[in-house]
Amino acid sequence: MSVKSKGAFLPGNSTVLIKEVEFPTPGHGQVLLKTKSSTICGSDIRAIYREHLGKGPEGYQNKIAGHEPAGQIVACGPGMKRFKTGDRVVVYHISGCGCCNDCRRGYMISCSSESRAAYGWQRDGGMSEYIIADEKDLVLLPDELTYTDGAQIACGFGTVYEGLEKIGISGNDAVLITGLGPVGLAACMLAKAMGA
Ligand SMILES: [Zn+2]
Ligand SMILES: [Zn+2]
Repeated sequence: MSVKSKGAFLPGNSTVLIKEVEFPTPGHGQVLLKTKSSTICGSDIRAIYREHLGKGPEGYQNKIAGHEPAGQIVACGPGMKRFKTGDRVVVYHISGCGCCNDCRRGYMISCSSESRAAYGWQRDGGMSEYIIADEKDLVLLPDELTYTDGAQIACGFGTVYEGLEKIGISGNDAVLITGLGPVGLAACMLAKAMGA
């Protein structure tokens, strides 16, 4: 059973194009999500207004835009190991091979396999009513967080949390943030919550 919905594409020339898309039945280890929230990243703005390089990790391959989605699972393909229909989830924005050293350490973003694909760049992303996602890319969204909280965490908060964890921010620190965009604001909120 496939479903149809509209999706947002970035054809260049500072435009966003809305097209009808057909979503297939999810394959092995995949889910069909009903998108509940999908935030816009600084890198999306760059793609809309400035760059369509067509190569590298941000090479846009004419897919549905949006790499910061959160949603609810409405259908599961065969071979699911953890998630089920009805679960509220965040989609991690990079789908790595799952087998290389970087992927196994949790750094899918550093995966150098040819199969690595970022949602919204090399595979369909969140700016649509539905998303096909791999189960291994899902993070369970706790009930106390809204879907929009989840979408914010998918890229901006998650990125900065990793950095703050690595340098071990605590109540002994004062933090200077230069550039208060969404990621800078996330750094501010998280550093404060971690005691700085
Ligand atoms: Zn982002
Ligand atoms: Zn990998």
